[in-house]
Amino acid sequence: MLRITMLVDELGSTLKMEGRLAGEAVREAEWCWQAARREHSNRLCRVDLRAVTFLDQEGKSFLSHAFQQGATFLSSGCMTRAYVEAITHSGQEYTEEKFREKESTMKDRKSVKGIYKPGSTHMVGDGFPVRNVFPSQNLTEEISPFLLLDYAGPSSFAPTDRPRGVGEHPHRGFETVTIVYQGKVAHRDSAGNAGIIGPGDVQWMTAASGVVHEELHEQAWAKNGGTLQMIQLWVNLPKALKMGAPRYQTVLNEDIPRANLGGPGGVIRVIAGEYEGMKGPAKTFTPVHLFDLELPMGHQAEVHLPVGCNTGLFVLSGELVLNRSQKVGEAEMALCDPQGSHVHIQATEEARVLVLSGEPIHEPVARMGPFVMNTEEELVQAVNDYREGKMGHLH
Ligand code: MN
Repeated sequence: MLRITMLVDELGSTLKMEGRLAGEAVREAEWCWQAARREHSNRLCRVDLRAVTFLDQEGKSFLSHAFQQGATFLSSGCMTRAYVEAITHSGQEYTEEKFREKESTMKDRKSVKGIYKPGSTHMVGDGFPVRNVFPSQNLTEEISPFLLLDYAGPSSFAPTDRPRGVGEHPHRGFETVTIVYQGKVAHRDSAGNAGIIGPGDVQWMTAASGVVHEELHEQAWAKNGGTLQMIQLWVNLPKALKMGAPRYQTVLNEDIPRANLGGPGGVIRVIAGEYEGMKGPAKTFTPVHLFDLELPMGHQAEVHLPVGCNTGLFVLSGELVLNRSQKVGEAEMALCDPQGSHVHIQATEEARVLVLSGEPIHEPVARMGPFVMNTEEELVQAVNDYREGKMGHLH
C-alpha cells in the first residue's frame, strides 16, 4: 500500500510529504490539501492520505490502479474528504489523456465570488416575513438579470378567517416569480389573472407595462393555519420589453420535470431554462435558468451551468460545500463567477437549494419600490400612471 503523509503547522508553514506517488497525484494531493487547510485555517491538523483516487465528473475513479484504497483525513469534517475518499478499484487504467481531461474540468469550474447572508429582515404586508438577500447586500450588476430575492419563512401562522398577505399594489418593468415550498398562496391581478399555488408550484408573473395585484395566504389554508415557506424572485426585463403586455403563468409541481442529480437520491427540478437537455415549463424573455435542488446528506454532484450567466446558489435549508472548499449555510447565497461551466456541490446536511442563473442585461437600472425601469423619468411616469389608474384595478 502506498502511503503519503502530510504535516502542517497551524500557519500552514510546514508541508512535509512522505511517500512515493506519481507527480500528478502529488499535485492533486497538494490541491486537496490546500482546500483542507482553508477549511481549518486556524487549527493544527494532520492529513494522512493513505491513497488517492481520482474522480471523473460522474464520480467514477480513473486513477486507481496504483491507489486502491481510500484516503483518510484525520481532521474531522474535512471538506475535501469526498474528493479523496474510499472508492472501490474501478479497474480503469490511468492515461495522460484522462488526466488532462480531469485538469480541464477543474479549470472550468465557476469560482465562488462571495457568500451573502440576508441583508435585511422585514414583513411584506402582514403575511410574508422575509429575509432579503439582494439587493440589500448591494448585489446588483453581479446578479443581473435578477433584481431581488426575498426568502419568506419558514414561519408558522395561527388559523384565521381573514387571510394575511399583501393587498392591492402595482408593479412595472419586470417579472415576479413566486416559488412555494410550504403553505398556499393566492394571487389576483388587474389583468384578470388569478391562481393558487401550493408546495412545489411556481407563479411567474410578468408585470411589464404594469399590473395591480394582491398576494395573500390562500383562504382555506389560512383557516387552518400552518407553516409558510416561499421565495419571491424579481427578474428584470430589457428596455424593449418593459412596456409590453402583462403575462401570467401558473407552473404546477406536476408539470416541472425532475431528474436525478449526481446519482440517485439527489433531485433537480427544472422550473425555467434548460438542464442537460431537460427544459423547464416557465417561459422567459431573456435566457434564465431556475433549478430547485433537493440533496440528501453527503450527496455530491457537478452542477452544469451556462458560461457567461450570472449565477447564485441560494440555500433554503441545510448546508453545502462548493468546489470542495466553501461552505454555504441556511439562507445564504453563493455568487458564482460567470466564467466556468460547472460548480461542484456537496451537501454536508440534507439541503434544499435554488439555483438562479441568467444572462445579464447590460442596461441602466432605476428602481423605486415596486417599479424597475431604466431612468428616473420612467419611474416618475410609473408613479403617475399608477395614480391615474392606468395599471388597472382589482375587481
Ligand atoms: Mn407584488
